[in-house]
Amino acid sequence: MRQTNLFTKTRKETPKDEVAKNAKLLIQAGYINKEMAGVYSFLPLGFLVLKKIEGIVRTAMNTLGSQELLMASLHPKENWEKTGRWNTLDVLYKVTDSLERETALGPTHEEIVVPLVKPFISSYRDLPFSVYHFQNKFRMEVRAKSGILRGREFLMKDLYSFHPDKEDFEEFYERAKKVYLDIFEKVGLGELTHLTFASGGTFSKFSHEFQTISDTGEDVIYICKKCGVAINKEIIDEQKVCPECGGSDLREEKSVEVGNIFDLKTKFSKPFELEYKDKQGERKDVLMGCYGIGIGRVMGTVVEVLSDEKGIIWPEAIAPFQIHLLSLGQNEKADEIYKKLKEAGKEVLYDDRDIKAGKKFADADLIGIPYRVVVSEKSLKDGGVELKKRKEEETKIIDIDELIK
Ligand code: ATP
Ligand code: MG
Repeated sequence: MRQTNLFTKTRKETPKDEVAKNAKLLIQAGYINKEMAGVYSFLPLGFLVLKKIEGIVRTAMNTLGSQELLMASLHPKENWEKTGRWNTLDVLYKVTDSLERETALGPTHEEIVVPLVKPFISSYRDLPFSVYHFQNKFRMEVRAKSGILRGREFLMKDLYSFHPDKEDFEEFYERAKKVYLDIFEKVGLGELTHLTFASGGTFSKFSHEFQTISDTGEDVIYICKKCGVAINKEIIDEQKVCPECGGSDLREEKSVEVGNIFDLKTKFSKPFELEYKDKQGERKDVLMGCYGIGIGRVMGTVVEVLSDEKGIIWPEAIAPFQIHLLSLGQNEKADEIYKKLKEAGKEVLYDDRDIKAGKKFADADLIGIPYRVVVSEKSLKDGGVELKKRKEEETKIIDIDELIK
């Protein structure tokens, strides 16, 4: 894409009303726009990143054999009354329309997915299966100061699995755990992300969270120095040694919860009477699990942990473009290179603007595309273009054909 065609521009100043680094950088670089506290729109650059993360998560969910759908955002009140959460879930947004009808804006989808699958499940032959979607959730978060890490409207991937028995559930849950770790590896958070034991609420001893070490995190975890698995501070009083390997040498870190997986047992099957007939013809409750990832939160976390004083540093897998091509007064040659790179299938942002070189360099650092390619009089004299990785200082001159290869 030509930068002269990009309708957004970088801002000179960081926004004054933001405290979180992710929001400051993403707004300044033109990735997101703040509508109000905790509510952001995604601009073309930001939307590209969001879609890359979504793509990685989608591929992973499909390897679990899960089926993608799209559930509604506006939820009937009756469903939330049935589970008792209409009056107990403090983050629930309740909407009253002009005819005095009450509905809820979906903060999570158990109340929709269970009645939705119910007519399709009658016998053990209809199980197991799972469904997932990417959808904006609404939550009345009181602390909405963390940019896209804690939105009041935010994009989540949530998956719900349905099983005939405990063994079947556990087999799926273990696979999901591995697939989750793989996702965080792929988006560039692998080294900093720890499988974390957390309290499982009333129904099971533990749930599992995926926590990324970051100073801006709202959680505190204790990481086992032996195996790398962590325990959330909320349960550390009951669980003093590593539940994975028994290790007792733990280090404390602040962290961001980028995902979690939960054993729901029959918590939501019961109120909706989600049952099936087993091989003996006996009626049994369907067992469920739920599995969430905050897509926007992952994006914000990457910005928090991988940026430097000059701006964002995107991992290749989720960068909006792979190459940032900068023309320093050499648009004729740069146009040619841009065309060739595009023909070779590369994702290129081409800075063809008629502005000072210093501003182009500063914007490239702020925007954070993994490879910077400069076409200047000097580079052409030296035999090609200047290539630099965003996260490294070193530059080198390479031949134009070599670059395209
Ligand atoms: P938290 O404790 O941070 O509020 P949660 O336990 O309420 O999270 P879930 O309801 O299980 O989280 O949501 C699943 C995932 O969605 C979380 O792991 C997180 O990645 C993301 N998420 C939750 N709340 C938000 C939010 N307000 N803004 C952005 N992402 C969120
Ligand atoms: Mg929450």
